[in-house]
Amino acid sequence: MSDIALRCHQLAKHFGPTPAVRDVSVTLPRGSILSLLGPSGCGKTTVLRLIAGFEAPDSGWIEIAGRRVAGPEVFVPPEKRRVGMVFQDYALFPHLTVARNVAYGLTRRPEAETRVREVLQLVGLPDKERRHPHQLSGGEQQRVALARALAPSPALMLLDEPFSSLDAAQRVRLRAEVGRILRRAEATAVFVTHDQEEAFGLADVVAVMLAGRIAQADTPRAVYDSPADPAIAAFLGETNLLPGTARGAAAECELGSLPLRIPRFGPVLLLLRRDSLQLRPHPQGHAQVESVEFRGHYHFSTVRLIGSGIELAVRSADGPRPRAGERVRIELREPVTAYLRRPRPENELHPETTPGGTTEPPEGKPPPQR
Ligand code: ATP
Repeated sequence: MSDIALRCHQLAKHFGPTPAVRDVSVTLPRGSILSLLGPSGCGKTTVLRLIAGFEAPDSGWIEIAGRRVAGPEVFVPPEKRRVGMVFQDYALFPHLTVARNVAYGLTRRPEAETRVREVLQLVGLPDKERRHPHQLSGGEQQRVALARALAPSPALMLLDEPFSSLDAAQRVRLRAEVGRILRRAEATAVFVTHDQEEAFGLADVVAVMLAGRIAQADTPRAVYDSPADPAIAAFLGETNLLPGTARGAAAECELGSLPLRIPRFGPVLLLLRRDSLQLRPHPQGHAQVESVEFRGHYHFSTVRLIGSGIELAVRSADGPRPRAGERVRIELREPVTAYLRRPRPENELHPETTPGGTTEPPEGKPPPQR
């Protein structure tokens, strides 16, 4: 059996003139969980539907467990792709018991009964076989849906916003449980979400989708620590972007000289995490505190820089409590990520790595002498 459960190669899909998916390539090893994370309308569900076989790609191809299921002159229908689907609204049959819902995709009867018991045990519902869906909580219904999808031992599980119909507390509980169930079943899964906590908490690999493309795919830690460009940083939130000029290991900006994670040269945007900024009262400080909100285990402040008028958002979990109206110095707890800005008249942004070559020096190298 192939060690690669899913391979998508340069998938593209238009709906009329609208490009919904552009140049999406994904390779997913068996037993791993991939999250497609992105804002509404970025094309996540379309990628999932292409993999499931509910849509055909305009170009590119898809292989599941080493078998070509979509591509030029190939189209395997959904029921023959060996995928299990879990939808946002559970999609259970209301007139069937839990056991019959789970058995739905299983054809061979005697083995089916054993398998139903096995997967209901796996999802923690061994005693609910005879109930009907309306006699279960939302979280339990979603676990039945998961059991039904897992029952035929699919090569790939596809989950579309599987927790979004649940309340916040249930969502967190079921998320952890689904993670455990998928790993115990050694399932390979792709799940779609717009909730980054969900993506970071559950996935081995997070693929951030923006405007139909995968903008960055990496471990949750790498995506969180080093968003590949300002658009991804902005989507992930919790950040501020401040212009500056990089001179190697540090960048000059309105807050003074800040150490950089990776050396850069030239005009940059600096990524300042909300929780990496520390405010210290100071009569000649960089900024004035505009507002402070108490949010339980931290204070959320908005400060305005005196020079440029730029607003920064700050989360302070310790240190002196900021007060509205006071002047503050802003200090950084950690080196910052810098994104190069193309020296264009319109000052357009672009990612820090630029395949194809530009006038910018490679990482950590000084600019060439002209
Ligand atoms: P959401 O989180 O809101 O579900 P999404 O990231 O899953 O969004 P998609 O549902 O994949 O996004 O949609 C991507 C784009 O394709 C959107 O602009 C959407 O309007 C468009 N689209 C999706 N399905 C169709 C369709 N059947 N016909 C026409 N346009 C479509």
